[in-house]
Amino acid sequence: NQTTAQQAQSLEEWEVNALRDHELHSSRYFQLLESRRRLPVSLRRQEFLDVYHNSQIILVSGETGSGKTTQIPQFVLFDEWASGKKVACTQPRRLATTAVATRTAAELDVPLGEEVGYSVRFEKKLSRMTRLKYMTDGLLLSEASRDRNFSAYSCIIIDEAHERTLNTDLLMALLKMATSRRSCLKVVIMSATLNVEKIQSYFPGAATFEIPGKVHPVEIHYLSDSTPRYCYCAITVVQHIHENMDDGDILLFLPTSGDIEMVCSILRKRYDEGLKVLPLYSALSRAKQQEIFEDSEYRKCIVATNVAETSITIDGIVYVVGEYLHNFFPWKVGIDKSATDSGLEIRPVYNPRLRMSSVLTCPISKASAKQRAGRAGRTQPGICFRLYTGQTHDTCFIPSAPPGILEGELASQILLLKVMGFESVGTFDFLDPPHPEVYLCGLQDLCAMGYIDDRGTITPKGRIAARLSVHPKWLNAFMEGQKNGCLREMIDLAAISSTQHPIFSRPPPARFAADIAHQRFACPLSDHISQLNALHAYESAMKTNNRLPISQWCFDAFLNRRALSEVVRIRDQLLTSLQQELSYTKEICGFEDAEYDTHIRKTLARSFFYQCALKHPDPFATIYKTVHEGHTAGIHPESALTSERQEWIVYSEFVSSGIPYLQTVTAVDPAWLIDLDFFQDDSLPKTENGDFKQPLVKKSLDKARKKNDSVEEDLISFEELD
Ligand code: ADP
Ligand code: MG
Repeated sequence: NQTTAQQAQSLEEWEVNALRDHELHSSRYFQLLESRRRLPVSLRRQEFLDVYHNSQIILVSGETGSGKTTQIPQFVLFDEWASGKKVACTQPRRLATTAVATRTAAELDVPLGEEVGYSVRFEKKLSRMTRLKYMTDGLLLSEASRDRNFSAYSCIIIDEAHERTLNTDLLMALLKMATSRRSCLKVVIMSATLNVEKIQSYFPGAATFEIPGKVHPVEIHYLSDSTPRYCYCAITVVQHIHENMDDGDILLFLPTSGDIEMVCSILRKRYDEGLKVLPLYSALSRAKQQEIFEDSEYRKCIVATNVAETSITIDGIVYVVGEYLHNFFPWKVGIDKSATDSGLEIRPVYNPRLRMSSVLTCPISKASAKQRAGRAGRTQPGICFRLYTGQTHDTCFIPSAPPGILEGELASQILLLKVMGFESVGTFDFLDPPHPEVYLCGLQDLCAMGYIDDRGTITPKGRIAARLSVHPKWLNAFMEGQKNGCLREMIDLAAISSTQHPIFSRPPPARFAADIAHQRFACPLSDHISQLNALHAYESAMKTNNRLPISQWCFDAFLNRRALSEVVRIRDQLLTSLQQELSYTKEICGFEDAEYDTHIRKTLARSFFYQCALKHPDPFATIYKTVHEGHTAGIHPESALTSERQEWIVYSEFVSSGIPYLQTVTAVDPAWLIDLDFFQDDSLPKTENGDFKQPLVKKSLDKARKKNDSVEEDLISFEELD
């Protein structure tokens, strides 16, 4: 049932919407159709279909803005309509997923969530009618854990493959295998023009399809001297463009949402008329994000994070102002920018020896810089102002960013592959295999959590953990919470740890005010309980009919409303899914319980025992030593525990932005830990007063090192590497 471009195009030109019998097309549809037809990829629809019909795997490359993300899935949808199966298109970012789904639904003239829908973690707009599904790569991956053959789909489109996120890499590996099992499954891998050769060599038999893009020349300007005050520099450049240069919209790249809001408010004050200043970052509401695409009678100035680098294309950009800093960091860390050298970017790098995500400063890639500049030359010649020197670009920037699989922690991905039946993940056919040490460290963590046994085989508990929509480590907390009557609180905490943004907001200009406002939620023994206090205060503010609108209440309390409402949504979903997985019964523990705090702290201790730390014996010291790895770190300055030094703590994150810190910590009683298998009782030296003051020795590590199990093979390869 092969279709032609001609057939599809005549269907598109009908008065009646071919996807929805008997519904007439709107006038907006025809406007959009006209602009779609001008996109480079539309001019080659037939060529694309020819390649598509003759191969199972197709690699599509083309400049950003050529129409890959919005058009190719539609081409495929028309062609595959008769199959009755779905078409999926993955994106690495949530923001892009929802934006392109909205756009494509409008282009097809259907309500979002019906024929075209999206699915991102904890949020979806889908229905039984959905035939084209935009989704994050992580979500398709978790679907794959239930169905390795992707049998609901006739075609899977992996978009932005050049970004090489960990999930995209895993999906490509799984699809490579699935295509050999299901000959009717088609795979389209789309990427910008970078990193294409590497992906081609991974899919030797695949057909390639290039979209010739016309790119206009972009004039590039550098600073003559580098400056650490990039926000002010950016404002000056925007001012210069706006006051002296020809028409054309401006796109400004800044690293963090804090920078973006600050620059936007200064620019807005300066030009209340004549310049439309619009922020773009993931924490913004959907409506605000969509505003960037709206026409404006004034010049637009869009101030964005790297999301505007490849995944989102905004028409009409003539000027690009580019910062060298690039906030990649998905964890919740206060980054001290003064510590960052000019010409460098902030990237998270996972260090398996420390089990720590460090914020390292290293050069952004030349590929990124080029990509950003290219945003100016889409419709006419453009100009790019780089807020760094030419020398910085030439000497400090690496050619392109390393793939995500080489930079992150792997425990949950290994668990997922084990659930899917890949026993020996070490020999898995990855595009770039992860470092054996990171892999081994993931295995050890899974073993400590009880999700795999000594032989590396997944346990029944591990199977449940892999199905959770939050990090698998939370299953232990749920099970322990159930014993101690605080399951509900653990579910809240799991939801809080899964939001993209921290619930406590600390905008740079009002940091002290925020700290004071947060005091009312603070629990001196536990940051986790402080977070719960904030969440519960928010929920009761929602319930009570007070005069204050909730947005104002959040603003006054310096809480992030979007994050909190996301927490509530995630929590409710978790509750529903856990009712099926664990035989979860309604709340047992209440605030009235005098032991409320203790139950929670004990549960945290017993479920995150492998992340505990012990204070240095010197009474004046502020340093802690992690028990698992024996590394030293301070408590993060934002913690409520910094004023009262506790001997034993469990922590949620070990981070570093120069100085290593334990973040989100809770004071615990060592007696809660002592009967755990993890700690070898006989190796606990006691002091005179009977306290356990020495770092403990771990049993699980030794277990993992035992001969004759699958972990052993990996150990050997790791040692060879050394
Ligand atoms: P590519 O994936 O090749 O970078 P896209 O398909 O994303 O290209 O973009 C093609 C065109 O669609 C661009 O001109 C862009 O401006 C437009 N477009 C994409 N998403 C949206 C949106 N959410 N709203 C309005 N226009 C959009
Ligand atoms: Mg795209």
